[in-house]
Amino acid sequence: MTPVYSFVIPIYNEEQSIPEIYRRLNLMSESLNDDVEIILVDDGSCDRSLELMRDLQRKDPRLGYISFARNFGHQIAVTAGLRFTQGDAVIVMDADLQDPPELIPRMIEKWREGYGVVYAQRTRRLREGRVKRALAYVFYRILRLLTDVDIPSDTGDFCLMDRRVVNILNTLPERGRYLRGLRAWTGFRQTAVTFERDPRFGGDVKYTFRKSLSLALDGIISFSRVPLRIASYLGLLAALFALIMIVLVVYWRILRQPGPLVGFTIITAAIFFFGAVQLLCLGILGEYLGRVYEEVKGRPIYTLKEVAGVPIPARDVRSARESTDSWVH
Ligand code: UDP
Ligand code: MG
Repeated sequence: MTPVYSFVIPIYNEEQSIPEIYRRLNLMSESLNDDVEIILVDDGSCDRSLELMRDLQRKDPRLGYISFARNFGHQIAVTAGLRFTQGDAVIVMDADLQDPPELIPRMIEKWREGYGVVYAQRTRRLREGRVKRALAYVFYRILRLLTDVDIPSDTGDFCLMDRRVVNILNTLPERGRYLRGLRAWTGFRQTAVTFERDPRFGGDVKYTFRKSLSLALDGIISFSRVPLRIASYLGLLAALFALIMIVLVVYWRILRQPGPLVGFTIITAAIFFFGAVQLLCLGILGEYLGRVYEEVKGRPIYTLKEVAGVPIPARDVRSARESTDSWVH
């Protein structure tokens, strides 16, 4: 029998949180009156996470897991998890209990009203660093400014998606996956439920500053071509600036004695300025080109080393056969 609700939980070194998230999810799902499945995605953990997942899977037939051969990152872990789901509604949540399972009944209510995507919007982030909060705030505003897709502010990946939305996400071929953008891009009716974000239950934050920055860049670049246009505008602006300078220098030369504009400082400043503009534009181009390169290579976006308790979707069956005996069913 296919489940009505699927929970997808990406896990990277969360041995401290796994028992607790499982307990709270179980408690919550008792109130749901419908079948659920829990899909844990091990994103190449190097602590006891996978062992804990194996134990849970042996005890609970509703729970399945997939395990990556190495760490591929949160967005890829969620992407993989979505491909293994079967439920009519899919709920994506973090393992660290910053996304409280108790919010899910409210999300389900909205889904029953006919929304395709119900995302959780944070009203307050408890005890997360001030710098992180400020950066997140600025980032979401810039993202909204730059993109045509209506990506809601202050939402993470915690959400409920209808099967139709998940099916669309599963057919998207791209490697660069900024899921909260793609989710909005599908265009189905979306709504928010608000919550206060608790601090992490245990363990350290897995999203390092570098990972967060890279996620932010992915978000902007995969949803906007405005930065490329900014490069052109900068070029135009610099050209205009140069033109004005030429006119001024000629004017000073012909009509007046050599004045303040002809000198060492102005030349050095100009060299630095144009050097900077060029490097910046090259950098912007590079960001896009690098992503094109990634897409063109066409490598699989993750490698699986173990799967248990969930049917393997058609697209992953081949790699399943090839990695032979490490497969558990
Ligand atoms: N995560 C993952 N792979 C990674 C980093 C994080 O699967 O490379 C998982 C992690 O285990 C957690 C979720 O993604 O379940 C969110 O990570 P974290 O709590 O560190 O980030 P934040 O709360 O700052 O968004
Ligand atoms: Mg967290």
